[in-house]
Amino acid sequence: MMLNYEDARALVFQNVKPLEKCTRPLTESQGLALSEDILAPHGMPSFDNSGVDGYAVQAEDLSPASAGNPVLLENLGYIAAGDSGHEKMNSGQCVQIATGAPLPKGANTVVMKEDIEVEGSKVRFTRAIQEKENVRYQGEDISEGDAIIPAGTVIGPAQIATLATFGFSQVPVHRVPKVSIVSTGSELIDVVGQPAEGQIRESNRFMLAGMVRQESCEMLKISMVPDLPQVLNEAFEEALKADVALICGGMSIGDKDFAKQLLKELGVEEIFWKIKFKPGKPLFFGRRGKTWIFGLPGNPASSYVLFEEFVRPALRKMMGRRVLEESMVKATLEIPITKTYNRLHFMRGLLHEENGEFRVRPLKFQGSHSIGSLVGSNALIRVEADSPSIPAGSKVSVRPLRNEIA
Ligand code: AMP
Ligand code: MG
Repeated sequence: MMLNYEDARALVFQNVKPLEKCTRPLTESQGLALSEDILAPHGMPSFDNSGVDGYAVQAEDLSPASAGNPVLLENLGYIAAGDSGHEKMNSGQCVQIATGAPLPKGANTVVMKEDIEVEGSKVRFTRAIQEKENVRYQGEDISEGDAIIPAGTVIGPAQIATLATFGFSQVPVHRVPKVSIVSTGSELIDVVGQPAEGQIRESNRFMLAGMVRQESCEMLKISMVPDLPQVLNEAFEEALKADVALICGGMSIGDKDFAKQLLKELGVEEIFWKIKFKPGKPLFFGRRGKTWIFGLPGNPASSYVLFEEFVRPALRKMMGRRVLEESMVKATLEIPITKTYNRLHFMRGLLHEENGEFRVRPLKFQGSHSIGSLVGSNALIRVEADSPSIPAGSKVSVRPLRNEIA
C-alpha cells in the first residue's frame, strides 16, 4: 500500500530520535542544536555602568542648573573601561567616566561629555538631568536565572555571542548525524570525465552532500558505483556504518534496480517504500540497527525535493533541533495550474515578493530529471492529489527554498 506524504513523514519523524548529548567548544558550535535550556548564570549587565562618555553626578546637584545658572562640580578624576568600580563620590562632586566603566558609588546619572565644559578642576553643567540617564543597570537586559535560549535552538552568531557573554566555553549540544551517500548507476561517470554515448556525469552525490553540509552534519564516504550487485553490496555495507545512509538510484522497478533488494539482504528493514508523491514516488525508508536508510530515486529533481521534505527535517530531528523545517507560506498564483495528478505534487516554482505579498509561478518544465529546474526554482508549490485546476490569483501553499536565482 502506498503511503501518502503526511503519513510517510509522520513515520520518519516517529522513528528518528535526537542523537546523544555532548559538549562542543564554543568556537565549533555554530550550526549545532543546544541540548539544554541555557539559563543566565548572572544578570546582564553584570554591574551598573555608564552608557556614554561623560560625567557621573548626583542628579539632585543639577536640578537648579540652566544656561543662566550653571552648576560647578568638583572633578574627582577619570574611570576608564576596565577600571574597578570602587570610587566613591558625594554631592558637589563628579567623576569623568568612559562608556562601559563602572558607575562610581554615590552617582545616580551620567551627563554626556558633549553637554559640559571643563574649568580647571571643576566641570560646568548648564542643564538639569533625570536620575538613571545614560546608566546601564545591572540585570536590566537579562536577569539571573532567565531562560535565555531554549534547548533545541540552532546555534548561530546571536547565540554564540550570548553563550560567550555567560562564559560557556563548552556548549551542551547534540551530536550531529554522520551521513554517507552512494550514487548508483552504470551510466554514471565522474565529473572530470567525457561522457561516452549513453553516459552522464554524476551529480546527485555532490548535490546531496551539499544539502547535508547546509545542516552542519558530518559527511562520511561519498561514492558512485555501477549497477553490479557485488560492487553495490560493498558500497552499501560501508555506507551502513553511518547514522544516515542516502542511497541514490536503483530504487524503482527496473531490471537493474538492485538497491532495495540488496539493502534487504544486508539486513535493512523496510519501513516504507513508495509514496503518493511527485516527484519521487519510489522513496524508500528503512533501518538497520541505529542506521536510517533513505533510498532516493536517481532523477535529480526527485532526490532534491525528497531531501527537502524528508531527509532535511529528519537530520534536524536527529540533531535535536526544535525547528525541523522552514514554514510554508501562502502565495498568490501568477499563472494557472491545469495539470494535476492522483498524487500530491510539489511543483518547482519561482517565488518573489511584490508590495509586501508573496507571488509564485510554477516552472513550465517539471520533469523529475530536470537539472534546469533546480537552478531555476526557489520554492515548492503544493498541489493536492486530484486537485481541480487552480486558476491564477488563487492562494497556494509554498515551501520557500534556500536557493539564489537571478
Ligand atoms: P534510477 O532512479 O536509478 O532509475 O535513475 C533515474 C534517472 O536518474 C536515470 O535517468 C538516471 O540516469 C538518473 N540518475 C540516476 N542517478 C543519478 C545521479 N547520481 N546523478 C545524476 N543522474 C542520475
Ligand atoms: Mg539507475
